[in-house]
Order: sequence, then structure tokens, then C-alpha cells
Amino acid sequence: MHDGSGRIIVRGLSKSYGPVHAVRDLHFTVEPGTVTGFLGPNGSGKTTTLRMILGLVTPTAGTATINGLPFHQLPNPASVIGAVLDAQSFHPGRTAQNHLRCYAAAMNVPDEQADRALELVGLTPAAKRKPSGFSLGMRQRLALATALLADPQVLVLDEPANGLDPEGIAWLRNFLKAFAASGRTVLMSSHFLREIEHTVDQLVVISRGQCVYDGSIDQLRAQQQSRALVQAADPGALAAKLQESGFRVESLPDGRLAVLGA
Ligand code: ADP
Repeated sequence: MHDGSGRIIVRGLSKSYGPVHAVRDLHFTVEPGTVTGFLGPNGSGKTTTLRMILGLVTPTAGTATINGLPFHQLPNPASVIGAVLDAQSFHPGRTAQNHLRCYAAAMNVPDEQADRALELVGLTPAAKRKPSGFSLGMRQRLALATALLADPQVLVLDEPANGLDPEGIAWLRNFLKAFAASGRTVLMSSHFLREIEHTVDQLVVISRGQCVYDGSIDQLRAQQQSRALVQAADPGALAAKLQESGFRVESLPDGRLAVLGA
């Protein structure tokens, strides 16, 4: 059933490429009105997951739904979900405004809405310029404007902060927070917590295709703050004792123990 909420639900999502398990049994929910960061190092499975949500890659197992439906069953996908996946290349002969109007025409969206998308990303003053002369930040904003053309409920952005300077990151943060504050949904990936930590409400952390954290950014900060590093003559015995007492303990490569909740 189409539930109209803009909620993304991922259940048991997996993708293998031959022997490579790119994504393994992922479960998470992205709530409307929030910005969710999908964090993990390069090669951890972020792009594959986003592509499965967008119906571009077929899962080996599991499901991803938006508004309760898989992407391909959405009645009008463009008005539900907008995405920026790759660093986009733009037609060398077209101005920013023409680029957007061409996409708009292909999507049956009126020119005024294309101009509005340009305004939303702050590019109206550059409307008559060609993107070939744009900074990386401006090109990212033009790509974002393309994703906003049909006024979607949900934005999915693969590494949108990659390569941006602090000013560009601050602009993106304000934009995405305002977008989410209007009740819509943002899912953005990053391989660098610092790029997104002030933007996201929720964080899903992925490592080697598996979810290793799913919760609020505040909770994660609290956990990190209450993490104590302990050196012991017999780390194994101490770890067992601490675990008996209800602490979560991780062994670090240097032999120390990281004690969570201490
Ligand atoms: P991330 O976006 O986190 O960098 P990816 O989803 O791109 O990670 O890749 C996850 C893993 O899947 C990597 O080991 C990558 O090499 C592999 N992979 C991704 N796409 C393909 C593909 N089309 N064919 C084979 N392996 C792939």
C-alpha cells in the first residue's frame, strides 16, 4: 500500500557480486522529517544500498520500500523521490537554466518549476552561465536542483558533501535541514563523519556491507563520551569480568580495551 509518508524502510537487504558480499542483511528505517546519514568507508556498500533503494540494482535478498512500495511500483516516482548519485556532467553548450529546463521538459514539469529549483539552490544569479565555469559546490547545487525538479518528498544523495569546502558544507547543511523540517525525508551517504555530523539527526553506520550502528547522532556522541580506554596485564580476563558486569567491551589492535558505557 502506498502510505504517502516519505518513509524509507529497508529490510534484510543484501547484494552479492559473485563472491563479493557488497551488502549483507541490512535493516533500517528513515523517518520523514529527518536527515539520516549513511556512513561508512569506501567500499562498504553505501552506493549499492542507495542504488537498490532507487531500483537501479536488484537485491540478492530483502526489500527496500518508499511509502510502503518498492521504487518500481511507485505511481509517480519523480514526485516521490529525487536523487543525486554521481558527480553529474552537464551539456557543455547549455546554461544552468537551459540544463534544468531540458530536464523539466523531459519530466513534464513547467519551466517555472525549473526556475524555482534553481532559486531553491541559490543559483538564480548564475542562471545564464554555463556549468563548465562553475565551482564544484555550484555543480553539486545544480545536480541537487535537478533532483528537486518534481518537488519530491524524499531526497537520496550519494556523498553530496564530498570535496565541498566548509562554506559549501554549511550551505548543504542548512538546505537539507530546512528540507527535512518541512516534513520531508533525506538520506545522504558519506565516508567522513565530520562532513555530516552537524547535518544528520539519525546515523546508520555500515562496515563491510553490514550495519554496525543505527541510532541518533546524540546517542552516538554520548556513547563515545562514555568510552574509556583501559590497559590490562590480562585484557581477556578483564574483558570477561567487565562484560559480566554489563559493559560492552571492544579489543583494540594495540591491546587496550575500549569500554562502552563506563
Ligand atoms: P561504497 O559506496 O561504500 O564505496 P559500493 O557499494 O560502491 O561501496 O561497493 C561495495 C562493494 O561492492 C565493493 O567491494 C565494490 O567493489 C563492490 N561492487 C560494487 N558494485 C559492483 C559491481 N557492479 N560489480 C562488482 N562488484 C561491485
